[in-house]
Amino acid sequence: MKKPVHLNWIELSRAALRRNVASLVKLAGGRIVAVSVKANAYGHGLAEVVTMLHECPGVGYITVHSIEEAAAARAAGWVRQIMLLGPVAHASLEAVIDLDLEPVVFDRTILKKLGRLSNRTKKRLKTHLKLETGTHRQGVTDKELPLFAEIYRQYPYLGRPYGAGMHFANIEDTTNHAYAQYQLDNFERMVKLMQQLKIKPAVRHTASSAALILFEKTRFELVRPGISLYGYWPSKETYLSYLLQGGRNNLFEPILSWKSRVTQLKQLPADSFVGYGCSFRTTSPTRLAVTPIGYYDGYDRELSNRSYVLIKGKRAPVRGRVCMNLMMTDITDIRGVRLEEEITLIGRDGSEVITAEDIADWAKTINYEVLARLSPAIPRLVV
Ligand SMILES: *Cc1c(COP(=O)(O)O)cnc(C)c1O
Repeated sequence: MKKPVHLNWIELSRAALRRNVASLVKLAGGRIVAVSVKANAYGHGLAEVVTMLHECPGVGYITVHSIEEAAAARAAGWVRQIMLLGPVAHASLEAVIDLDLEPVVFDRTILKKLGRLSNRTKKRLKTHLKLETGTHRQGVTDKELPLFAEIYRQYPYLGRPYGAGMHFANIEDTTNHAYAQYQLDNFERMVKLMQQLKIKPAVRHTASSAALILFEKTRFELVRPGISLYGYWPSKETYLSYLLQGGRNNLFEPILSWKSRVTQLKQLPADSFVGYGCSFRTTSPTRLAVTPIGYYDGYDRELSNRSYVLIKGKRAPVRGRVCMNLMMTDITDIRGVRLEEEITLIGRDGSEVITAEDIADWAKTINYEVLARLSPAIPRLVV
């Protein structure tokens, strides 16, 4: 069969994912590893990542944000545990049972309704309580805990909460971890309170990637890494803190490359404008390559006149505004570029590399957003 030729595609390295999983499992040191595949697996492609995870020893658990993501993971064949991190509409709660999910609960009316549904099915429902320790996002305060304990007592199939978790507010973006310690103290105090209320959780979990990498005491019985699975550091500060602790940078490698092709070549004289808004004007004769990538695909318009792509192992600057579906790059100094020549937007070409962090710096955002914005419509190829 002839291989399909794409003009815009994402390659995922199965071997790199395996090595990242092995690193995470080693870091977790025997604890349960629940990896995050929310946001279309951080833009990598939920179905592809879930399918690859099925083949990785040590990962029997994923976390998702929404019911829709959970349904997509089940449709892709994921039969193991799923923790649902985000909110569910009251009207959709039956899907929690149907899809066999473990919801993270932070609202009493939701917990009651789950209790009633579990009475109906007569099957134990594993729930997790999200504790409010200082992030002030989703979470149950210590004052509310007795009311939650009351609901757990009323519904036998809820039993005790299977898990209790929290999320750190300030662990990635700083090398000062005082607030993280304050939250951890709150968490331990609230778990003790749960114990007194006879709703002691079986597993405690607080560790996203940064916490897992930097703080052994955040690991408890279960860890919830996300971005590190895909090969990225949560931030420069996390990497710096890791090095200051004596760590070496061989933990993770990016599994994703984003590629396209040159679909038109043109020669412009000096003083020609390029693209919408006439924001770039050539100062000398210029050779341009047009490529079918735009902000629709997740290539931020902020990258206009600012970013680079790789062609034939060299950096070509983006000229003019990034359009909805197209953009132009300057290849004047790159010899031998042909029509349908491969372009690398994220990834390596020869000795040159453009990372999600480079794109994030140019677009004034973070690697998480660059990845999460990659359009789900781009074909994903596992290599
Ligand atoms: C996204 C998320 C994680 C994973 O965070 P990373 O920084 O990507 O490792 C963990 N826990 C919760 C609650 C999350 O929402």
